[in-house]
Amino acid sequence: MTNRVLIIGAGGVGRVTTFKCAQRRDIFNEITLASRTKEKCDAIVADIHAKGLKQPIHTAAVDADNVSELVALIKNVKPNLVVHLALPYQDLTIMDACLETGVHYLDTANYEHPDTAKFCYSPQWKYHERFEKAGLLALLGSGFDPGVTNVYVAHARKHHFDRMDTVDIIDCNAGDHGYPFATNFNPEINIREVTAKGRFYEKGAWHETDPLSVKKVFDFPEGIGPKDMYLLYHEEMESLVKHYPEVQRMRFWMTFGQSYLTHLKVLENVGMTRIDPVMYEGREIIPLQFLKALLPDPASLGPRTKGKTCIGCWITGTGKATSASPYYIYNICDHEACYAETGAQAVSYTTGVPAALGAKLILSGQWSGRGVFNMEQFDPDPFMSEIGDWGLPWVESFPAGDGGLA
Ligand code: NDP
Repeated sequence: MTNRVLIIGAGGVGRVTTFKCAQRRDIFNEITLASRTKEKCDAIVADIHAKGLKQPIHTAAVDADNVSELVALIKNVKPNLVVHLALPYQDLTIMDACLETGVHYLDTANYEHPDTAKFCYSPQWKYHERFEKAGLLALLGSGFDPGVTNVYVAHARKHHFDRMDTVDIIDCNAGDHGYPFATNFNPEINIREVTAKGRFYEKGAWHETDPLSVKKVFDFPEGIGPKDMYLLYHEEMESLVKHYPEVQRMRFWMTFGQSYLTHLKVLENVGMTRIDPVMYEGREIIPLQFLKALLPDPASLGPRTKGKTCIGCWITGTGKATSASPYYIYNICDHEACYAETGAQAVSYTTGVPAALGAKLILSGQWSGRGVFNMEQFDPDPFMSEIGDWGLPWVESFPAGDGGLA
């Protein structure tokens, strides 16, 4: 059988996934890359061909907000799987189009409505019965966080813990792009996430914190060293809390440098991060969308970014015979190495690689099911045994001390 994949979204993440799929033509026999701007797809394909990966990759223009356009494209391409790497606003339209055409679905970010900076899985989980009835699989959140972090937790529970008590997901980007202020992925999505209230789970309830008000210092491995990190709400906690009700406390932390935070505060104070329309010279504009137009395109950060990312999970609980608690599992990714391979920096790379591996596991039948699933619901072993070869090796350790996280 010929495996045909349709990738939607030609940003940094779409670039990496298309590269990775092009490196594995044994699995991804036919590839189509579609996005709002076809020229961006063509530019990615030209870069892939320039790396000596000469097999054809089709490109197309599509407005993924429009279900009938999507349906027409899917009917034309006839993919086995749609890999959605456009924006979270398009999750539901693409899921609708997959249902209408009978095609499996994968994404890396949960649905957000453009008018409310609130994200949760319930709008997509509501599709479970429809996907089940259609005999289709929708895999949600196959990026790094969500994505690999969910699989790390599943791996820890399967191989090291009889019971998990606390899970801290820790995301560090120690890269430097040299700009006073820029975001490493879509600025609109990034700023909405960071300026939202923090939230963590403890003893059966969610607790809210003011944005960026809870800080800890964590000493990151492999030469990165101590960094300030801040408590944020992050979507994988919603599914992990649901699927591991034994966990007593779950938190998510992200590192930010002082310059980023100062700029963000100023932009917030002057109203530039607002997502409601304001009138300007007789027409409505959304300040955050205008800001996005001023900031560097995340895709342009690739050649300038130096340093590493370190994303992982710190877990405590009751261990199996050979293990001790706490347990720390992480990946280190080097921005310059990612750029040399794919023309994108590590934040896009760490998201695009798991999307490609998730797609492989679906197409090969190693992960199968009917309905809507999060990553931790599948056996972590095939993913963990391959993700290193795909470019994101992992390290696990049983550190002494509590890492400052107790
Ligand atoms: P970018 O903004 O760089 O790229 C998004 C792409 O989608 C652009 O090519 C854009 O086209 C295209 N697009 C936007 N709207 C539409 C539309 N209506 N129809 C068709 N195409 C559209 O984003 P990233 O590549 O950085 O991120 C991609 C996804 O990955 C996002 O959903 C993001 O939230 C997610 N992500 C997930 C992470 C994880 O670890 N799970 C981490 C980082 C990102 P155009 O350029 O023409 O506007």
